[in-house]
Amino acid sequence: MNPEKEKNLKALESGEILSREQWKSLIKDPTKEDARIFAEKACRIRDRQYGKRVFIRGLIEFTNYCRNDCYYCGIRRSNCHASRYRLTGEEILECCRSGYELGFRTFVLQGGEDPYFNDERMTEIIRTIKKEFPDCALTLSIGEKERKSYEAFRQAGADRYLLRHETADDDHYRLLHPAEMSLRHRKACLYTLKELGYQTGAGFMVGTPGQTADTLAADMEFLQELKPEMVGIGPFLPHHDTPFRHQPAGDVGLTLYLLSLVRIMLPDVLLPATTALGTAAQNGREAGVLAGANVVMPNLSPGNVREKYLLYDNKICTGNEAAENLRDLSSSMSAICYETVTDRGDHKKFI
Ligand code: SAH
Repeated sequence: MNPEKEKNLKALESGEILSREQWKSLIKDPTKEDARIFAEKACRIRDRQYGKRVFIRGLIEFTNYCRNDCYYCGIRRSNCHASRYRLTGEEILECCRSGYELGFRTFVLQGGEDPYFNDERMTEIIRTIKKEFPDCALTLSIGEKERKSYEAFRQAGADRYLLRHETADDDHYRLLHPAEMSLRHRKACLYTLKELGYQTGAGFMVGTPGQTADTLAADMEFLQELKPEMVGIGPFLPHHDTPFRHQPAGDVGLTLYLLSLVRIMLPDVLLPATTALGTAAQNGREAGVLAGANVVMPNLSPGNVREKYLLYDNKICTGNEAAENLRDLSSSMSAICYETVTDRGDHKKFI
């Protein structure tokens, strides 16, 4: 490893706040050997924090209507080819029931920013789920809202919230989103969520158009400042009906390397091996765990809507990815000496 990288890695391990230049030196030009060393350190840290346990979350994609128009996303409002759906409250509950049977103790409700699901409807859904499954954690991933909505969801019983910041660089943010969206607002939402006591998840895609070592360094700086309980990182994958249809997919090796870096920076973070990683490479999720991840989020959505929640092309939703094939997922994790566990899997600070 080059001496500068080695020095900065030591600084990171000892909890120092790194400068932009230090981050860039860590991120730039990783060799295979660097990736191996980083992954080894990341695994040692994760094992010390959480053991050889991988937490599972049942992902319920309950609406693909969206009022936003993010250039990378297949369910953006301008995509008139997307076949739109929303689940009813009862259908969502049914997903939770089958998930509970399978052993899931965390449900993640994810969707586009769908105005139909206003605060009243959302709080009703949250209350009903928490009433029927008081021993389960409920995570929301429904985008940017006003503080009072986040408050209402929290009061109704929501425990966690995933809101990737997507990129922490202003110019890069504008390249990925239309003018009506802003990084400033998205970051403000993340701070609000933390204040309200949510276990909060930020994160970004790897390899979006315009991403550089500098913007990635900004992402790491932001994560080091925010200290989220969860971080979602996956490769960018093009979708055929978006403005980014001809853009190349993000690099799997770099994604794994960044997962390791995040684990080293935030030792007790809950870090998923994402669906995008599983889509981009065979055994991508196992590779994610071997790079320092400790969460997987199988798909619990009803079979007939799964292919409609198409954020990017070829998104996996069957095989090991499907919640009903949890046994296969568990075997593939045991094959790499990890075990999937039935546990809420809260962040250590929240136990
Ligand atoms: N509306 C919610 C959920 C968005 S979908 C929200 O705003 O948070 C969840 C994540 O999928 C996004 O945050 C984004 O990082 C990722 N995603 C969207 N399109 C993608 C693509 N083309 N390739 C890879 N990941 C994508």
